[in-house]
Amino acid sequence: MSESRNVVIVTGIPGVGKTTVINTAVDMIKEEYGEEVLILNIGTEMFEIALAKGMIKDRDELRKMPTSKQREVQRLAGEAIAKKGKSARAIVDTHTLIQTENGFLIGLPEWVSRPIQPKTVVLIEADSANIASRRNSDETRTRDEQLVDDIRVHQEMCRAAAVSVGTLTGATVRIIKNREGLVEEAARELAETLME
Ligand code: ATP
Ligand code: MG
Repeated sequence: MSESRNVVIVTGIPGVGKTTVINTAVDMIKEEYGEEVLILNIGTEMFEIALAKGMIKDRDELRKMPTSKQREVQRLAGEAIAKKGKSARAIVDTHTLIQTENGFLIGLPEWVSRPIQPKTVVLIEADSANIASRRNSDETRTRDEQLVDDIRVHQEMCRAAAVSVGTLTGATVRIIKNREGLVEEAARELAETLME
């Protein structure tokens, strides 16, 4: 591997298909290269930290905590992830912008991004109307309802946030489209980025 960085950050708005594309790409890599890729999730890490501290009881309560608390937990989660990503090929699954009552909380602020030193930031995008309908049909999660127009603006802001991480860390930024019914296509691109 000519690249000394191990981590690819995969981001995008809720319901765009990050977790689905990541799981498919990791299966492809295991099958084709016989390699295991570590999947790290900033939200899961934050949830476990907040749960252990007795701050919340379920995952969807995370984004409703006061922003100062979210930031505190986010910092701890970022540190834990940076440590785990030092020794193995890893994907970090995270939100770019988290809608709070006090504006967007940035998922990858400087003090989370810099310690992780990603080689690439992959931004998963999909058609805004498809995202709205995917969110409504996924019964395993309690997602906030949003209008298609809001989803479009949210996706545009995610591009700016992804580029900011590139500016801070030197990571490349790659946009991958997750087309309806074509998860494998998006996963193939992610697998290539990871194995580059
Ligand atoms: P969150 O940020 O909330 O964790 P996510 O970005 O990880 O969301 P997923 O949970 O992977 O999104 O996907 C959301 C829903 O969309 C799931 O029900 C999934 O099966 C479906 N989905 C994902 N990609 C596609 C696709 N290309 N075509 C059709 N359905 C899809
Ligand atoms: Mg997910």
